[in-house]
Amino acid sequence: MNTILQRLVELQQLDLVIRDLVAEIDRLPREVAQIEATLAQHVARVEADKKALADNQLSRRKREGDISAFREKISHFKSQSLQVKTNEQYKALLHEVEYHEQQIRQTEDQILAEMEASESLDARLKEAERSLAVERVEVTKQVAEARARKAEDEKKLLAHRQRREELKTGIEIGQFERYEHVLKVRKGLAVVPIVKGSCCSACHVHMRPHAVSQVLSGEVIVHCESCDRILYFAPEAVPGNVEENAPEDPEAAKLAREQALSEYPTL
Ligand SMILES: [Zn+2]
Repeated sequence: MNTILQRLVELQQLDLVIRDLVAEIDRLPREVAQIEATLAQHVARVEADKKALADNQLSRRKREGDISAFREKISHFKSQSLQVKTNEQYKALLHEVEYHEQQIRQTEDQILAEMEASESLDARLKEAERSLAVERVEVTKQVAEARARKAEDEKKLLAHRQRREELKTGIEIGQFERYEHVLKVRKGLAVVPIVKGSCCSACHVHMRPHAVSQVLSGEVIVHCESCDRILYFAPEAVPGNVEENAPEDPEAAKLAREQALSEYPTL
């Protein structure tokens, strides 16, 4: 394969990796923020439950104080009733006693309801605290992983960008600018392999026989007549992650190219 074409193929693979790295570097801090925001929500919920439980206990203590006060009043009214002189006064005191006894019963019912609420609140809080402890460990792990991944990505990105600069210097400026233009307008894909012997793998338009033979020769830079992408022949080429693609076996590639060329005997 022509050296410039080889550089363009590598450049394309590199640009796909760079695009993914940039997207991941951009995404990771947002993911971390999301994880931390969810944890903060759960912490806030636990804190709200703790406050509700404390409020419940405070309210019960206040009601117990109220009951003591009601009892004191009742005993005061009862001792007064021993000294009253008229029936009306006695009745009035009796009415006060009954009213405060009723208040005690009401308050006791409220305390009972609060005790029941406190039990379920306490159970819920214990469960929330348990799951929060698990979540904290998990979040710490996830955040550390995301940060390490981002640092690793940034290192890779730097190396890939350096390699990109090296490749750029080995490509004629007009060709490089055309590559960059196609890359921009064709959503990041400017160099693609041909498929089915004569099709652009991106826009699927059939090429003319002469262009096919040029692509198969690997010696000329051929652009797709339809989408303007640079075309190349690779036996099993898949544009994608540069690191995931095994290096091309030159012998196998040569054989595949010859086989493909033999399908165009008239050229
Ligand atoms: Zn095309």
